[in-house]
Amino acid sequence: MDPVLSAREAVAAAIQEFGTSLAVLSSFQREDVALTDLVLTVAPGVRVLTLDTGRVPPATDAIIAAIEARYSVKVERIIPDQAEVHAMVAQHGLNLFYDNVPNRMLCCDIRKSRPLKLGLAGIAAYFTGLRRAQAKSRANIEVFDRSAEQVKVSPLADWSTDDVVRYTTERGLPEHALYTAGYTSIGCDPCTRAIVAGEDERAGRWWWESEDAVKECGLHFTADGKAERTVDVLLREVLTVAQRA
Ligand code: SF4
Repeated sequence: MDPVLSAREAVAAAIQEFGTSLAVLSSFQREDVALTDLVLTVAPGVRVLTLDTGRVPPATDAIIAAIEARYSVKVERIIPDQAEVHAMVAQHGLNLFYDNVPNRMLCCDIRKSRPLKLGLAGIAAYFTGLRRAQAKSRANIEVFDRSAEQVKVSPLADWSTDDVVRYTTERGLPEHALYTAGYTSIGCDPCTRAIVAGEDERAGRWWWESEDAVKECGLHFTADGKAERTVDVLLREVLTVAQRA
């Protein structure tokens, strides 16, 4: 089936099922921009959310402005709890993620997963730009993932990278400036780099970690149980300090 047609069908089915209790979650990578275009051309009122971790690249502001102007929407920024961020930085340093995987997951927990949970409260479902071809860890994603509190809808699950580029080019959509610098996946500034030929699309994410580490932040997938137990301990320590603040 034509990938654009199948994505539009998934968007329409989600809108029919969830009505206004839906949002687009975007980090403004190419697939997120394509997804936003697909959703807002079908249902212009759908909310657009983004995680503003405090460490996103400056160029992200420019594409947010371009999206707001093109679709006449206000992108809603979900930000982390500042007391939790301060407690984490005081205990482990601003760039704790370079030290080890549990520290990196702790930072993603504080700056992404915990705020997202609050940001999605009251929403039945949200759209993501996840694609199976992006990485091995995404090979089995479902278009409708009903395993968590909010249904996660990924209309581009079947799309190849070429499908994404073709769609964004044909539609003349805005593009994050870091693609011209060789980035193929865009996340927080200190945790993302450009890739070299032959590398996996997500190889630029947390590039200092071993090949075996799961290149995911916990928003969509979890790491191995041992790392998670370590993160649980670190998180409890940070939250104890934050709650005293
Ligand atoms: S991607 Fe890096 S800076 Fe961003 S939340 Fe995760 S560890 Fe922290």
